[in-house]
Amino acid sequence: MLKELSKNWDLENEIKALHEKALYRNMPEIRGFPGRIIYVDGKCALNFSSNNYLGLAGHPEILETFSQAVLTYGAGSTASRLIAGNCPSHRELEEFIATWKRTEAALVFGSGYQANIGIITALTDGNDLVISDELNHASIIDGCRLSRATVSVFRHMNLNAVEDALKKQGARRKFVVTESIFSMDGDHAPLRELWALCRDHDAFLIVDEAHGAGVYGPAGEGLCAELGVIPDVQMGTLGKAAGVSGAYVAGSRVLIDLLVNRARSFIFTTAPPPAVSAAALKALNIISSPEGQRRRELINRNVQIMDKMLRKILPPRKTPCHIRPIQVGPSDLTMKLSAECLSKGLFVQGIRFPSVPEGTARLRLTLMSDHTIEDLEKAFKIIKSVFEPGNIGNSGLDPLLT
Ligand SMILES: *Cc1c(COP(=O)(O)O)cnc(C)c1O
Repeated sequence: MLKELSKNWDLENEIKALHEKALYRNMPEIRGFPGRIIYVDGKCALNFSSNNYLGLAGHPEILETFSQAVLTYGAGSTASRLIAGNCPSHRELEEFIATWKRTEAALVFGSGYQANIGIITALTDGNDLVISDELNHASIIDGCRLSRATVSVFRHMNLNAVEDALKKQGARRKFVVTESIFSMDGDHAPLRELWALCRDHDAFLIVDEAHGAGVYGPAGEGLCAELGVIPDVQMGTLGKAAGVSGAYVAGSRVLIDLLVNRARSFIFTTAPPPAVSAAALKALNIISSPEGQRRRELINRNVQIMDKMLRKILPPRKTPCHIRPIQVGPSDLTMKLSAECLSKGLFVQGIRFPSVPEGTARLRLTLMSDHTIEDLEKAFKIIKSVFEPGNIGNSGLDPLLT
């Protein structure tokens, strides 16, 4: 009976097609304490694939706060924020975020995916125009798809294309949405220029700081703060550099009020466990403290060291970053190189369509403040040996040149 059913669904063919295009995915099992060394499917490896940029996912003070908060508040929030799940730790976290980001208010979401969907659908309807970078994260794309707004996708970081889209008449409100640090490319959006364009054309700027917060800005607020840019809406996550879970939106009081009333991914979901918010608050306290600053200095040191080494074998990057893609191209070759790295003790995940455009598969190297100089040297040695032209099969492709 079950077999019949799956036959009718024809799902095997879809899975087969994924295999044929080398786009089939599985989840490696990660064991060990989050940090520079982990076990990937049982294999011990240096971890260069985590977003735990500042090493906070294993920070003793955050773990202590987390476990105390579980004992104080219980395991879960048991309801949505608007019904019976709104706890003091949510308010305290939001007050801290607003002060830290120098905005009037902030709102916590269960995840960044939910936050981006909530922002775009709550702020726009069929009368509006959303102008979105072609490499924006899937959560932004899905927010655009769910909203009834007209969506204009522009070539990656192309300011002329943004200006052309802004000049179009007829929309009630216009929004420009971008990541600050692009998650799969590690490049820095031209935030000052985008902000100026938005001001000139009476448009709103929405910035996703998922990979900027924690690492950039005088108190780790993100790239906006580093560049003196004040977007209308800024979103960030609590599960990457902050090492815990969840996300936030910061902006004006009226923006936050509207999200509370309209963002369906905020309204129709159980509130984050209070202990998660307490732990995230502790993480933000550390990020904005001198210790956070020291961790930022360490990750920046690591970025410089790795960039200097990679320059020997790869074209230089305009802005070295804690996210460093190594372009390969074909999906199958990318996954082969990733597996080879792992067999030599380096975990660097291959990234394929639809996370990145077709034909641009890559290894995505992410750095952490916890990596030692020896870790960086070892990782570089493995990458270099794996990318040795004689060692990448007969694909005719020299990844070192792409
Ligand atoms: C990871 C990510 C998100 C989603 O955040 P989660 O909390 O993991 O759901 C949103 N935007 C960008 C740019 C991201 O990299």
